[in-house]
Amino acid sequence: MSDRYAVVGNPVGHSKSPEIHTLFAQQTGQDIEYTRLLAPLNDFKTTVMRFAGEGGHGMNVTVPFKFEAFDLSSQLTLRAKMAGAVNTLRFDGAAIYGDNTDGAGLVADITRNAGLSLSGSRILLLGAGGAAYGVMLPLLERKPDFIHIANLDESKARELAGRFSAYGKIAVSSYGALRERFDVVINATSAGLQNAMPPVPSAVFQENTLALDLVYADNPTPFMTFANRYGAKVRDGFGMLVEQAAESFCVWRGVRPDTKPVFAFFGR
Ligand code: NDP
Repeated sequence: MSDRYAVVGNPVGHSKSPEIHTLFAQQTGQDIEYTRLLAPLNDFKTTVMRFAGEGGHGMNVTVPFKFEAFDLSSQLTLRAKMAGAVNTLRFDGAAIYGDNTDGAGLVADITRNAGLSLSGSRILLLGAGGAAYGVMLPLLERKPDFIHIANLDESKARELAGRFSAYGKIAVSSYGALRERFDVVINATSAGLQNAMPPVPSAVFQENTLALDLVYADNPTPFMTFANRYGAKVRDGFGMLVEQAAESFCVWRGVRPDTKPVFAFFGR
């Protein structure tokens, strides 16, 4: 019988993870079955424990359960501990291993797919929610010059900076105080989901700035359109999605698949 995996969320119908992991399995010759699992909003734990009890090997966790998955894990990787959230579960006997591959996925998309070395770069991170927490450690491990965080609620940005201050140089300000130019601007706000954008000034972009929106969209988000107008090269969050899936696949199966055929499959 194939080893069983699933993506669990609510909603989960839109998730591309089953297609992505099935392509990875075909490419690497791994015998797995990967499905979508809708968990009731008030009963994530039962859904996960039932899947594990029936022999499931691992799960990807999506909105809104990444914090509950963190609480459910009996062991956590450092990146999951620092993120305070789990997007990858691995079951082994009674143990539940929790990991967070979102940040590694973003770094892989920037370095492998966009071809940019993050070492010595000036990074602007917009937002201080769950996604921002997930990407901080993997970004700092690439030794950027510094990360500057801007958020509408500045106290949340300071809290985020405080958690990671031991890992590198981090600055915080309001959007209005942003004056300098950056090499990489990451939109980790959820503004794009409402077809809006954070109030970032055009002064942060220069020619060759990489402007990356974590939201994945068929059409450019307002942030991408704005950044492009001021000379930035733009990407949406599709690359991060595929790369975090490759990282999760590696956590489970010990082999990191080539992501290029997946981009081609989705016409990217
Ligand atoms: P959260 O709800 O935890 O945080 C939302 C953040 O967005 C907060 O910092 C909030 O600011 C800010 N925000 C919301 N609306 C606006 C606005 N109109 N203008 C400026 N800031 C705004 O969400 P997540 O961090 O979990 O998710 C953020 C995005 O990242 C989502 O769109 C999600 O789809 C995407 N994502 C993509 C992944 C991928 O693989 N591509 C993986 C994970 C997430 P404040 O605190 O001031 O309210």
